[in-house]
Amino acid sequence: MLDLLIRGGQVVTPQGVGNWSIGVQSEKIVFLGLDDQAPQAGRTIDARGKIVVPGGIEPHAHLDIYDLTNPDAGVSTLGPEEDTRGMAFGGTTTHLDFCFVEPGMEITNAIEQRVARWKAQSYVDYSFHVGLMGVLPLSVFDQIPDIIKQGFPSFKVFTTDVMPAHPKRVRLRLDMGRIQLAMDRVAKNDGIMVVHAEDDDLVQFNYERFAAEGRTEGQNMHLVHTKLSEELAFDRVIRLARASGAGVYFVHTSAREGVEAVAEARGRNLPVYCETLHHYACFSFEDYRSPRGFCYHTYPSLKGPDDNKALWHGLVNDAVSTTATDEFPTSLSHKLSGKRIDNVTGGNLGAEARMGIVYTEGVVKRGMTLPRFAEVTSTNAARILGLYPRKGVIAAGSDADIVLIDPSIKKKLTREDFHVSDYSPWEGWQVEGWPVLTILRGKVIVENGKLAGKLGDGQLVPRKVDPVVLRRPAS
Ligand SMILES: [Zn+2]
Repeated sequence: MLDLLIRGGQVVTPQGVGNWSIGVQSEKIVFLGLDDQAPQAGRTIDARGKIVVPGGIEPHAHLDIYDLTNPDAGVSTLGPEEDTRGMAFGGTTTHLDFCFVEPGMEITNAIEQRVARWKAQSYVDYSFHVGLMGVLPLSVFDQIPDIIKQGFPSFKVFTTDVMPAHPKRVRLRLDMGRIQLAMDRVAKNDGIMVVHAEDDDLVQFNYERFAAEGRTEGQNMHLVHTKLSEELAFDRVIRLARASGAGVYFVHTSAREGVEAVAEARGRNLPVYCETLHHYACFSFEDYRSPRGFCYHTYPSLKGPDDNKALWHGLVNDAVSTTATDEFPTSLSHKLSGKRIDNVTGGNLGAEARMGIVYTEGVVKRGMTLPRFAEVTSTNAARILGLYPRKGVIAAGSDADIVLIDPSIKKKLTREDFHVSDYSPWEGWQVEGWPVLTILRGKVIVENGKLAGKLGDGQLVPRKVDPVVLRRPAS
């Protein structure tokens, strides 16, 4: 007898969508097929009328980290014990956070610290990107092959310090030489580069110029972190990656120019991928002027309506592979406390809303197919970042990470729909379809609006990227 049977739902798989039943035993999917052939199970979930998708994967979260964007406030983001509760409610069963390595640190120690911090403190599964920052000694790069073997194959770099120098800000930027070195090591060992790409010269010059001109209001953010800056940096990184043979995953793509650079590279068969944020696809710089406008900000910046259109086009069709949040959970007062271009709090609070927003805005409003919905919320992140096929797909042998979406729910989101902080930027947003039941490795962790999971349900998941993903655009 199986542990669990999910019957009668519209199940979304890479092979298509059908009314199938899913059988679960010992945390894994063991049966996917017609209901009359399904084995008996200890518990049955009636999924009639629901859409059944693979558990969401949040590829970009910053939990329990000091806020360098608004550094004088002395605030850190909420930790996994608080934020992953929202992920569970929102249908996200795995997230990727970061362990940042600064000069003076070893990669292994940085990973050990983050792993210890998460242990028994997460409702959902997790792993970490390794972030390489600042003027790192070259010997640090020699550790990359071993780190990949240990199950951490993605390496995040910044091409810019993002913001002006400040006594409490560490240097984020890696020079192009060190990025090339990282790419070389990563490419030879089947890892992947994760890149925050903006042109540092333009960004820093814009900060200087806007300060000199007294135009420091935060609503000018898109004029400091510009479309052109994204275009220049994406192009440069793609050329460097082509020379090194490295696969690249661009985080938080915000502009049409970024999408086009990625599409062009993919047209040349290069293993180049990008994510966008649901915030970037749904809001524009005009929203900075609204009373809670900085809720929607993260670095680089919101862009214009034409960029929203390009991001959605990429998500619905090709070129934009994943949706992420750049999750950065704080209180509302902290999120709104920085009002200048050099101290608006970065990051977003929206991992909980991600699946529901992409369903409404993508599937309901823009004709995204259900298999494509599964790709951009789960499967592609799993493939590109090395969790596939254990995660990201409803298939026999995979982890039973399964989410039921109720497409009949039509509501305006309110504070009560969220479970992390004292606000959500998505309050007031009209949705059609919302996650109602979340299963992590066969265990129901959210059901009937109640949390059934516990801290410690989430486990560290070792990752390995399929070499196919690193040779050509495969997701
Ligand atoms: Zn980020």
